[in-house]
Amino acid sequence: MKTLIRAIVDTAALRQNLARVRATAPASRVMAVIKANAYGHGLVPAARALAETDGYAVARLDEGLALRAAGLTNRILLLEGVFSPDQLAIAAQQRFDLMVHSFEQLQMLEGRGGSETVSAWLKVDSGMNRLGFRIEQFAEAHQRLTRIANVAPDPTLVTHLANADDRRDPKTVEQLSAFGATTAGTPGARSIANSAAVLAWPESRADWVRPGLLLYGVSPFPSGNGADLGLHPAMTLQTEVIAVKIVKSGETVGYGGSWRAERDTRMAVVAAGYGDGYPRSTPSGAPVLVNGRRAPLIGRVSMDMVTVDVTDLPAVGTGDPVVLWGGGVPVEEVARRAGTIPYELICGVSQRVQHEMR
Ligand SMILES: *Cc1c(COP(=O)(O)O)cnc(C)c1O
Repeated sequence: MKTLIRAIVDTAALRQNLARVRATAPASRVMAVIKANAYGHGLVPAARALAETDGYAVARLDEGLALRAAGLTNRILLLEGVFSPDQLAIAAQQRFDLMVHSFEQLQMLEGRGGSETVSAWLKVDSGMNRLGFRIEQFAEAHQRLTRIANVAPDPTLVTHLANADDRRDPKTVEQLSAFGATTAGTPGARSIANSAAVLAWPESRADWVRPGLLLYGVSPFPSGNGADLGLHPAMTLQTEVIAVKIVKSGETVGYGGSWRAERDTRMAVVAAGYGDGYPRSTPSGAPVLVNGRRAPLIGRVSMDMVTVDVTDLPAVGTGDPVVLWGGGVPVEEVARRAGTIPYELICGVSQRVQHEMR
């Protein structure tokens, strides 16, 4: 049985976006970032669609284990590493590459007995001030890491950019130069670029790029959308009309009565709400596609439903398809209307939404 609301994922689009990353950064290997259920696209099916990548990056051990359980033997990087000796033992046994960003993690590696060789990625905090060794700690961290017998030689040197989505922000230049100076003369591959940096900062591409959002065809920049960048948006969040009714001029719609009809209005009630991941902050006037045509949201988003003004569309009936994002309504546009970023919308598609890979 099909659920009313579905996240339809275009696997050809995922492949095309990966090809786009390769064409943009031809000298770099690609760690396809598929954390958070592949940004809401479905972890294992998205991983399969992206099989041409050089490796997968996930945030947590569980995500890596789910990929192995599905039979994927590719290189897998845990972007935050491990947080206990037990996790480390499992990760080593599964041949996961590990980010090493703290002295606690170093200590765990130093104390590990196992014979499997672990590939480590050493994370330098070049100014984002989130994970990673501070610049003044790098030499010690690197020396300790490379002395561990069951860690592969020449760890990949990593940093993460805080402001890469702003093409003019001097912060990125500062981070690149801090990272370059800190790691100068140290052997090992380099990895810096997320999606925005792949496109906007050629000097950041280095040996490994780590694109996430780009692979899903979504723009990492504050304006414009993926299609403008030649990307192929992969997700369509689609549902159906479940009722059509008339609202008389002067009446209000929905919780709080936040929207009032200025004319007799034909309204479609649509099966999608914040319980599916459609943001409650989306205001009246935001577009959805009903039978392929744009129509404005009216009233508040509720848990299971939204309401849409279809007065100006040809007859709309129960069962007609409604696209919340995808196709003619880019997810970037919905995010902007809702006061958030497209990352949050696609990652937030909830469990009751069925995925349909095409
Ligand atoms: C999530 C993540 C990425 C991917 O970021 P995008 O902006 O989606 O490309 C890259 N590197 C690290 C360390 C991350 O956590």
